[in-house]
Amino acid sequence: SSGYTLLRDPRHNKGLAFTENERDAHYLRGLLPPALLTQELQERKLMHNLRQYEVPLQRYMAMMDLQERNERLFYKLLIDNVEELLPVVYTPTVGEACQKYGSIFRRPQGLYISLKEKGKILEVLKNWPERNIQVIVVTDGERILGLGRSWLPGIDSHKFIYRLHGMGIPVGKLSLYTALGGLRPSACLPVTIDVGTNNDKLLNNEFYIGLRRRRATGQEYAELLDEFMTAVKKNYGEKVLVQFEDFANHNAFELLAKYKPTHLVFNDDIQGTASVVLAGLLSALKLVGGTLADHTFLFLGAGEAGTGIAELIALEISKTGTNAPLEETRKNIWLVDSKGLIVSSRKGSLQHFKKPWAHEHEPIKGLLDAVKAIKPTVLIGSSGVGKTFTKEVVEAMASLNEKPIILALSNPTSQSECTAEEAYTWSEGRAIFASGSPFDPVEYNSKVYVPGQANNAYIFPGFGLGLIISGAIRVHDDMLLAASETLAEQVKQENFDRALIYPPFSNIRKISAKIAARVAAKAYELGLASRLPRPKDLVKYAESCMYSPLYRSYR
Ligand code: NAP
Ligand code: MN
Repeated sequence: SSGYTLLRDPRHNKGLAFTENERDAHYLRGLLPPALLTQELQERKLMHNLRQYEVPLQRYMAMMDLQERNERLFYKLLIDNVEELLPVVYTPTVGEACQKYGSIFRRPQGLYISLKEKGKILEVLKNWPERNIQVIVVTDGERILGLGRSWLPGIDSHKFIYRLHGMGIPVGKLSLYTALGGLRPSACLPVTIDVGTNNDKLLNNEFYIGLRRRRATGQEYAELLDEFMTAVKKNYGEKVLVQFEDFANHNAFELLAKYKPTHLVFNDDIQGTASVVLAGLLSALKLVGGTLADHTFLFLGAGEAGTGIAELIALEISKTGTNAPLEETRKNIWLVDSKGLIVSSRKGSLQHFKKPWAHEHEPIKGLLDAVKAIKPTVLIGSSGVGKTFTKEVVEAMASLNEKPIILALSNPTSQSECTAEEAYTWSEGRAIFASGSPFDPVEYNSKVYVPGQANNAYIFPGFGLGLIISGAIRVHDDMLLAASETLAEQVKQENFDRALIYPPFSNIRKISAKIAARVAAKAYELGLASRLPRPKDLVKYAESCMYSPLYRSYR
């Protein structure tokens, strides 16, 4: 093909890094200025440009432009500067971008499947230029990033937070699969399923690019999703990973349960969150002593995150040591939702995913009273509502426990249950603290505390890689436990010395390879792996499979 086409193909474009020989061989003469830049130099220049922007959204746009222009350079930047750029290409900036720029359609970054495509989804899949797809991230945009309404002034529905075009979410997530987990970009497919919106502002906006109707529910919704799942398996085979992203909880739990037995499915909001938080708890045990079975857990928030974490904790306790059945191990885990402590007298009116947590207890409304009654050793915030771990709540935790474990998972930062500084100060430096949004280190009584971030990006890229390299055909909960245990093992003494329960993010590719190896090992052990024979050294094998962003030379 012509040099001009080559320069416009983001997968192959190298810009000024094309060598003299390549410029001759590929008809590039005259299309490029004379200078020849190495990839390193291009990277330095772009990072310099990026840092000139003060508004995160401008950095996001610059990164998206780069991804559309020069894919390898985009990933080189992302991999080499992961701590700096992760918040740019993913949360929190991506949420803002979906909100403000969601309606700008430039070129397809993924597939749009709406109710209009009903009956034709298999054909739609064939319109995508790549055939060998290994991972699909699909969203129906109902609950993007699980963000609460208070963060988005002007948008008035609680459940249907906002429904601008959510393609940025699967696109962003998949770029992390590549950057952190080493999956090939061409093997990743972002999908947005559009069943309408209940947001009147959008319905009345003449520039709205989505399907202009109220959200389909019930059978109409289920049928579209089922056609999609069937078409995906038919077109890409049994080993394609389908990751559900940012579905509202009433659909999320059902879809996962429905397709788990027949498809390779994963829900990061439920399972990925659970795995990363369990990892934090396992490493926190090294600071507080004992086993998980010795602890009492109280959650504020009983949705996808809260009940997902609770279930994985119960599973870990029953699988390691105790051998107690889940019904038993769940008993030390309590959840509070918007109506108060979940107790057995509420059972009749509870959503099914809350029922396992309805233990025998008198009703309690407020969190502080729940803390006093349940006497938790671990307090986890997953309600999406900020400032709920008040001074009284943290002080109560600190009076009950020598080292209270406090996880404030709600995002973004403004919705955090409490800040890192509050957690350390109100507990007189005794809290083991981590959060969903990042906080800077805190100095208290001349000691420096480093709060951990329970970032899902620790787990899902390596988890996905492990499934892919083993050719796994189903996800098993034991794989999630394996991922948690592996991540917990990466925390070093120097981290613990600063009360940090997560490893530094800078080593994430190494961590991903280790997680992938353990997940793959589980897949082989459980007879769920189809890639045979099993590679001897799974860590080495995982590393060897990982995508490298370095330029190729074209002869
Ligand atoms: P979700 O499924 O909608 O669940 C929210 C839960 O919080 C529901 O049980 C809801 O109660 C409860 N709730 C809402 N307001 C409350 C209040 N004022 N008091 C007590 N409970 C209240 O949402 P999700 O997906 O689980 O996400 C929840 C939060 O976790 C979000 O902020 C999200 O960003 C965060 N998160 C963090 C991570 C991480 O740190 N890695 C990962 C995932 C999610 P009802 O059931 O009664 O409505
Ligand atoms: Mn999500």
